[in-house]
Amino acid sequence: MIPFRYERSGERRASVALAAQTPGTKFLGGGTNLLDLMREGIETPAALVDVAGLHQDVEVGSDGRLMIGAGVTNTELATNRTVRERFPVLAQAILAGASGQIRNVATVGGNLLQRTRCHYFYDDAARCNKRDRGSGCDAIEGMNRGHAILGASPSCVATHPSDMGVALVALDAVVHIEGTDGPRTLPLVDLHRLPGDRPDIETTLRPEDLITAVEVPDAATARRSTYRKVRDRSSYAFALVSVAAAVDVADGQVRDVRLALGGVAPKPWRAHAAEDALRGMPATEDAFRAAAQAELETAEGLSGNAFKIELATRLISSTLLDLTEGAS
Ligand code: SF4
Repeated sequence: MIPFRYERSGERRASVALAAQTPGTKFLGGGTNLLDLMREGIETPAALVDVAGLHQDVEVGSDGRLMIGAGVTNTELATNRTVRERFPVLAQAILAGASGQIRNVATVGGNLLQRTRCHYFYDDAARCNKRDRGSGCDAIEGMNRGHAILGASPSCVATHPSDMGVALVALDAVVHIEGTDGPRTLPLVDLHRLPGDRPDIETTLRPEDLITAVEVPDAATARRSTYRKVRDRSSYAFALVSVAAAVDVADGQVRDVRLALGGVAPKPWRAHAAEDALRGMPATEDAFRAAAQAELETAEGLSGNAFKIELATRLISSTLLDLTEGAS
């Protein structure tokens, strides 16, 4: 491992100031992805600023919104009573990810900023534009079963691995950020970038920006919500396709719907086309499948992952069908 400096201030503004002092600094939360990347020599930060222990509260506002500290562990959030009762999609998504041991340590902020699990990214003998800009992409003509069908580019077809992020995007979450200019907010859907010709730049954050919290607005729709994940084994595996869905049905018609997809794109993918196709439509299997097809219209498969297009269509449709069964 390449030597690095370790800093810890115990305070958010001081942590940001420490990060601003040294280019190439990374914040350390649970470290479940970052330390692996450092051991492999993929990440070589000049310094780590340890923010574990900061921002560890989950608060419920008088208007019902959730304010989740970025240092809250995945386990704490998934077992929070308010989350389980009012935002079931969020609890289910977290529990569908990683292992119990990892969830006990991994934080909300770190979950959002984890790196892709594209195997070529972790293999320094492979060509990878994300790891080594301009070197090429061995996944495009290689093993790409787990790779993206939406939002990819000729430079990179990697997917974002987070399950929690998919649920949070569906719930219109907002990220709170502390930067050198002070605090600001950003819709979570705008946090991650599509790769374009710079897959090495994954978020819209500045290097010294620290995610401090994630805010989730209250929504009646979220009460009827769920997370479905298709993967190669039943635990400790990343999504081939996942769906976060929340829906409000009245008189047999879709009044409101939130949909996001995981495992199919370089970022948690908000399915706006499907949502637009569904609002005001009858809550039927035909309408759900048509909406899913609208979302997947621009999808492009590679040699090993074209099956995801039909899989995603079916998963969206069946998830909505199960969620609305018995609803009036
Ligand atoms: Fe690298 Fe992206 Fe290609 Fe994977 S898909 S090898 S991360 S450039």
